[in-house]
Amino acid sequence: MSTELTLSILKPDATRRNLTGKINAKFEESGLRIVAQKRMILSRRQARLFYKMHEDKPFYDELVEFMASEPIVVQVLEGKNAILKNREVMGATDPSKAAPGTVRKEFALSIGENSVHGSDSKESAEREIRFFFSDTEIVG
Ligand code: ADP
Ligand code: MG
Repeated sequence: MSTELTLSILKPDATRRNLTGKINAKFEESGLRIVAQKRMILSRRQARLFYKMHEDKPFYDELVEFMASEPIVVQVLEGKNAILKNREVMGATDPSKAAPGTVRKEFALSIGENSVHGSDSKESAEREIRFFFSDTEIVG
């Protein structure tokens, strides 16, 4: 598998509890490189658009409110098989089902406030990176 880029977000529950460094250490220890990163507050409009694929789900409104509530850190991670690798480092959506050592097992508060987002396919990675970053902001 060749080198890939994937989009990662450190969610408001992570920035609130000062966990950005500990989570970034997990990415870097796994071999993923942080090749772009910025801290920002998402507007509700941006949150709705970013999570558009979930608009019919019962948790959509709660998810949008949460993601727009406090600062997030958006990042591009680079590495071999980075999309799948990052999903492994993140762990399962529901922290009670996440494997030991994963970000969500160690840090997530609940299935909603689960500390990190990661792209789930090549197509979503391309869309999500473009949503937040221009080419000149990605420095590998
Ligand atoms: P993942 O982030 O693991 O790719 P999904 O794409 O299924 O998970 O869901 C997107 C986000 O929506 C989750 O990370 C979580 O913050 C939230 N979410 C998912 N399922 C629920 C749920 N049952 N209740 C509340 N929030 C949820
Ligand atoms: Mg998802």
